[in-house]
This record gives sequence, C-alpha cells and structure tokens, in this order.
Amino acid sequence: MERRKFLGSMAAGGLGLLGLPRAWADDSSIPVLFPVPTNTGISGRVVVVGGGMAGAAVAKYLRLWGGNGVTVFLVEASPSYTSNIMSNTVLTGQRTLASLNYGYDTLVSHYGVTRVNDRVSGIDRTGKRVALESGGSIDYDRLVLAPGLEFDLMPGMSNPNEYEALIPHAWKAGPQTQLLRNQLVAMSAGQNVVMTIPKAPYRCPPGPYERACVIADWLKKNKPGSRIIVLDANAGIVVEKDNFNRAFTVTHAGVVDYRPGCIVTDVNSASRVVSYNQVINSIPVATNAREQAAVLNPIPPQRAPLLLKDAGLLSTDPTKPFAPVDVLSYQSKVDPLIHVIGDASLTTQPKAGHIGNQQAKTCADAIVRLLSNQPLNAQVVTNSACYTPITSTTATWLAAVYQYDSASQTMVIPAQHNNGNAIAANAATTDNYQDMQTWFKTLMGDTFS
Ligand SMILES: Cc1cc2nc3c(=O)[nH]c(=O)nc-3n(C[C@H](O)[C@H](O)[C@H](O)COP(=O)(O)OP(=O)(O)OC[C@H]3O[C@@H](n4cnc5c(N)ncnc54)[C@H](O)[C@@H]3O)c2cc1C
Repeated sequence: MERRKFLGSMAAGGLGLLGLPRAWADDSSIPVLFPVPTNTGISGRVVVVGGGMAGAAVAKYLRLWGGNGVTVFLVEASPSYTSNIMSNTVLTGQRTLASLNYGYDTLVSHYGVTRVNDRVSGIDRTGKRVALESGGSIDYDRLVLAPGLEFDLMPGMSNPNEYEALIPHAWKAGPQTQLLRNQLVAMSAGQNVVMTIPKAPYRCPPGPYERACVIADWLKKNKPGSRIIVLDANAGIVVEKDNFNRAFTVTHAGVVDYRPGCIVTDVNSASRVVSYNQVINSIPVATNAREQAAVLNPIPPQRAPLLLKDAGLLSTDPTKPFAPVDVLSYQSKVDPLIHVIGDASLTTQPKAGHIGNQQAKTCADAIVRLLSNQPLNAQVVTNSACYTPITSTTATWLAAVYQYDSASQTMVIPAQHNNGNAIAANAATTDNYQDMQTWFKTLMGDTFS
C-alpha cells in the first residue's frame, strides 16, 4: 500500500494534479498513475438523467474526455443499478439478482462525477434546469436524458401494481425478476407458463425469445410436462430467426409453443387468463382465443418516460413513442441543448445496453466538441453485440456495425457487411456461452468502472 501511495504521489506530483476535484483527490486507495480527468481547458455543466447503461457511460466519458472543467451531475433515482442483461438467468437460478448489481462509487471517486441520488420530476427547457422530486433543481448548459423506458398497461389491466404483485413483466430487472423466479419455482409440473411479446420496437429484440428458451430449458429439468406458450404480437420472430426457430422446433421441441401474430385483447391478472386474436398474413386464425397460465409473464408495450413527453421531446407518430435525435450528437430534434441516448431515443439501432454504451460515447464526444466549438465527427460508427443463452450451457450471438449515412441521416449497417444485415452465430455452442460471460464483464466494466 505504501509503495502504491508513493507511486501515486510521484505520478500526481509530476503531472500537476493540484486542481483535482475533491472527491477524486481525497481517495488515496486508488493507484494514481495518470490524471483522470485532465485539465483540457474545456468547461461546461452537464446534467445526466439516469445512471443505467447509457447514462453511467456518458457521465464517465464526459469526464474522461472533457476533463475536470466539465462538471457532470449524474441524477439517478436508485442507489445502485441492476443489469437487465443476463437477468433471464436469474429466472433459472443460474445467477442471483445481487450479482447483477452495479454501484456508482468509481464514477465518483475516480472520474469525479457528482452523484445525485434523486428522481428528476420535470424539465424547464427555457430556464435550462431540471427539478428534483425531493425539491430543488439543478441548472445545466447541456442536458443528457438516459432514463430508459416506461411500460404501458396491457388491455384489461387497471393498475401497474398488478405487474409488481401478480403478473411480473420483469422487463426491468429488480423485484419483478425475483417474483417471476419464485412463481416458476412454485408452479406445479404439467402447468403452463404464458409469455406475451409486444410489437417492435421494444427493449432488447432477442430478449423475449431468449427468455422463452431458458425457461423451456429449466421447465424440462424441473417441471416435466410443462410448456411455455409464447404469444407474439409480431408477424414472426423479430431477430435471429434461424437460431430461435431451431431452438423452438428442435432443441426445445414440444416445450416452447410459439404463436406469431397474436394481439392480446385482455389480461386478467387475478385468474391469469389471457385473451387474444391471432392473425397470420392478414388471415384470422383464432378469434377471442384464451390461454390459462400458471405463471403469466406479459412483456408490455414500451415508450420513452412521461418526463420526455411532458417536455415535448417525443415523436408525434403514436407507433414510435420515443425521442427523435440527430445521431451525430444525440441532440434532440426539438431542443439542441438536450441529448437523448439509450432506449428512450428513436434511432435505427436496436434498444440494447451495448448500443446504449456506444451512443453514450458518441454523445460524450459530441458534447466535448460542442463545448469547445469544434465540428462534430461526421463518420460515427457504433457496434452492437448481443449474446443469447439458448440452454444453461449454450448460447448464440448477433452482431452488427452501424455507420452514419449522410443521405438518410441515420445509422445503417453498410451494404458490404453481410448485405446490410446483422450477423448471427450459426449454432448455439458452449464456446459462445463462455464468450458471453467475457463480453458481459467487459461491457459492464467499461460502463461502471
Ligand atoms: C431480459 C433482458 C435482457 C437483455 N439483454 C440484453 C443483452 O444481452 N444485450 C444488450 O445489449 N441489451 C440487453 N437488454 C437491453 C438493455 O438492458 C437495455 O437496452 C438498456 O438497459 C438500456 O439502457 P438505458 O440506459 O437506456 O436504460 P436503463 O439501463 O434502464 O437505465 C435507465 C436508468 O434511469 C433511471 N431513471 C429513470 N427515470 C429517471 C428519472 N426521472 N430521474 C432519475 N433517474 C431516472 C432508472 O432508475 C435507470 O437506472 C436486455 C433487457 C432485458 C429486459
């Protein structure tokens, strides 16, 4: 420890760190080998709302690249973050919720981010300030909104507490994930799980199919005779069609009952009965059909939080209730002093944690440029990787690289990359399962430490 402190003080002294933010300079347990953040001469005051995959990353990289003249407030409602990524494996008992918990200590102590544990209750665009639920407000030069999503009620529901107590969607990891796990454990062998999937766009395109696979795998071992019935509002499997089709019809044959084109008309949370109409290729296949579930997992329609709607930042297209942005900077198309990243933004990229991390870096770079009157980078590239467990030991993956297309002003997969399509693994393997653990650790490390 003494040697570490000595090396730290040598490095700090040699690089002139007297002007460090207090929180950072006071933490002598961190080996200081180079100054983070540096003094770049750039200054500004940025407020980030939401400390999830996108918000935590943008806060870190704003300090790393902007330097100690860029004051960054990270306003997050929860004391820590629970990762949605890998949360399907909590349902099968392979992970605990606690193992998916990430704190903000390093962002504060190492990067000098100012953490505010509060909920933003309103945005005053004219006054350039956000109101806090506990009272008070914070002024900004630039505001970054990364609050994720909110969930609508399913038809027939009257109260969001039905998700909390009876029919968990668990599409935001937390107590609902644990409740869904407990319900699966408590159901009798031979009874069925029913899951519903909303129309795209929704958070994590492969996520529902991944969940169907890992639950099916678990049912085979723990609840013989049980099935998972998947009522998909989409016309077919949305991504990785070949892999999931193989998983449903071969690997988990007879356990996954996949039904496309199912529009839910009623969810009774007390009796756990779902009513729906099924239409395939415009032809009605089932009208007012019903399924009785022992465990009901409705994944609801999703939209950007009301906070953004109230601030007038959302698209007027009711099928896309998210915030349109310029993808070179993630500036809102309505207010250029506000940036929207992660699931709340409306782009051509998937709503995924890996993409949220990438958008955060594009956004941090753009803000640093805007604060120092530099032109934006017009050759932005982002990449997305998504690993999907198919059984308790095998996984597939889906990867894509997006580039800025100046003609459409959107992010596109270039034609020379697999004819403009994402690339998928050609089989579920144990090697992919191992790679998934490394990918997850790296992504979370890059975001929170
Ligand atoms: C089951 C499942 C599996 C998934 N698997 C993958 C995967 O394998 N790969 C992948 O890339 N993605 C995956 N995802 C998707 C990924 O989790 C999301 O896309 C990602 O978390 C979105 O990041 P975000 O920062 O926009 O929102 P979030 O990560 O949800 O963070 C938003 C944060 O904002 C906070 N907040 C909200 N409103 C306020 C407010 N008013 N004031 C203060 N704080 C606020 C919230 O508390 C939250 O911490 C998965 C999702 C699910 C549900």
